[in-house]
Amino acid sequence: MLKPILLAVDDDAEVLNAVARDLRSRYAAEYRIVKASSGAEALQATRELKQRCAHVALFLVDERMPAMTGTEFLIEALEMYPDARRVLLTAYADTQTAITAINRIRLDHYLLKPWEPPEERLYPVVDELMRVWRAQARPTFDGIRVCGTPLSAASFATKHFLSANHVTYQWIDLETDASMRALVDSIAPGGARLPVVFFPDGTVLMQPDARELEEKAGLHTRAEQPFYDLIIVGAGPAGLGAAVYGASEGLRTLLVERNAPGGQAGSSSFIENYLGFPEGVSGADLAQRATEQAKRFGAEILTAQEVAEIRRDDPYRIVQLVDGSALRCYAVLIASGVEVRRLDVPGIDAFVGAGVYYGSALTEATTYRDQDVIVVGGANSAGQGALFFSRYARTVTILLRGQSLGQRMSQYLVDRINETANVIVCPHTVVTAAHGTAHLEAITVCDTVTGAARELPAAAMFIFIGTAPRTGMVARLVEREANGFILTGRDVMVDGQRPPGWTAERDPFLFETSVPGVFAAGDARHGSGKRVAAAVGEGSATLSMIHEYLRTV
Ligand SMILES: Cc1cc2nc3c(=O)[nH]c(=O)nc-3n(C[C@H](O)[C@H](O)[C@H](O)COP(=O)(O)OP(=O)(O)OC[C@H]3O[C@@H](n4cnc5c(N)ncnc54)[C@H](O)[C@@H]3O)c2cc1C
Repeated sequence: MLKPILLAVDDDAEVLNAVARDLRSRYAAEYRIVKASSGAEALQATRELKQRCAHVALFLVDERMPAMTGTEFLIEALEMYPDARRVLLTAYADTQTAITAINRIRLDHYLLKPWEPPEERLYPVVDELMRVWRAQARPTFDGIRVCGTPLSAASFATKHFLSANHVTYQWIDLETDASMRALVDSIAPGGARLPVVFFPDGTVLMQPDARELEEKAGLHTRAEQPFYDLIIVGAGPAGLGAAVYGASEGLRTLLVERNAPGGQAGSSSFIENYLGFPEGVSGADLAQRATEQAKRFGAEILTAQEVAEIRRDDPYRIVQLVDGSALRCYAVLIASGVEVRRLDVPGIDAFVGAGVYYGSALTEATTYRDQDVIVVGGANSAGQGALFFSRYARTVTILLRGQSLGQRMSQYLVDRINETANVIVCPHTVVTAAHGTAHLEAITVCDTVTGAARELPAAAMFIFIGTAPRTGMVARLVEREANGFILTGRDVMVDGQRPPGWTAERDPFLFETSVPGVFAAGDARHGSGKRVAAAVGEGSATLSMIHEYLRTV
């Protein structure tokens, strides 16, 4: 942890050096002594210290400085460090100034120059102030701090990205933290673009995108090698499974992920049906374990890098990234999974990230503590989400089109929901509108049997209404079925004939697409199991086919 700061400010260089020297000789082991020769310089230093998460324990400031008096400096500095102790230095007794300062800034002490000998006139004062300060000081978090307002789409995106990438951060709600609000206002007086993210090295980013965050947080964004045996698109269970086996079997393996490792499974609050975890496992935990395992075997993982297109340049496969760069390899595995379908009702788009969330936005659960939230959907992911949010929210209302939960949800989840008092199930109900001002406040729902409409209060709505495959990057390369799922193996054969453009002297392998050397596994593949275990199994099983293919190139 950084040492707390004692900040001395005086425009007289001789006095400043003397006070800094005396402070250092007694307090250097526990505190860092910082000097500033004017109010403006001291304010700048204070801002930088706050940006770096340092604690200021004491301001020891000359009152009579040109341009900005000590009291004027303290008024601004204390907005950022309200708990710091404050001492004014003056050359002569000035009772009126002391009285004013005591009232305006709750001055702790008024110290006359010179303070010789310090053992009698300086140290007893500072010792006592530091004793009081230490008793009140809260430990500082010296990692990344994300400052924003809770119901904001951009703040949500930043928090979600960092947590999905297992980057620890501290969330600071600017509506309740006046000292950070003062810092943010002083950095961007015209109004900052929120969230503002402070890094321990002092860097400040306003409303950063995934790439900026990733670079600053030290995640991996650039491929290290010019060429790979295997490039995997998507780091969900299928992609991670393939990466573990690919790398462990000696293939130069690169995994490219547009967001963070884990995929849909990473957003699951609790996976109870995955082999080997009888007590269940959180999606984030599973994703982190798999990522570490893949890396340990030597797989390279790029995150916040989206694949735009995959092309064929025989015998190579070219993976074009959204940032314009292109990667080359022999074989590609598409493990890009699916994304949650959008709910198309009036008013909803304005609240995405501000009360409306697609999928399980686990980071937001505490924001809605003791409030009424809605879960839309009737399958397992909706059930898991409802149970998770029921631990925080006052009520969780599940809206489902069907007649009962049992139609699409596993029985163990239905049983749990029935046992949970604050979860309410509304069958044959659909959402028809979303309302609110800055964030979601209510929704209109309609009973599909009676046609009756009613309004429900809704602090948040988490939507799990089916999925669509993310396979646009191969739309011009491989055969897909009508909904966009990738066809593989037998499904690409038409009347026993190999697909058009097929060049190999064999039929496509089980998980091979209509282009030799381009494979698909997991939820993006037509006919896949749509489960974590199925995706891991397919991703791993693809490796034997990829090895076979590589023998021919
Ligand atoms: C909330 C929730 C709870 C669930 N709970 C369970 C459960 O308890 N048990 C169970 O068995 N199953 C569960 N499932 C289903 C399970 O998570 C999925 O079947 C599984 O994750 C599919 O894995 P996948 O690797 O095929 O795809 P995904 O998990 O969808 O991963 C695909 C990855 O590819 C990335 N990607 C997509 N396009 C690109 C691109 N162009 N460039 C780079 N990267 C890209 C995505 O960002 C994503 O990370 C749950 C799903 C959800 C949403």
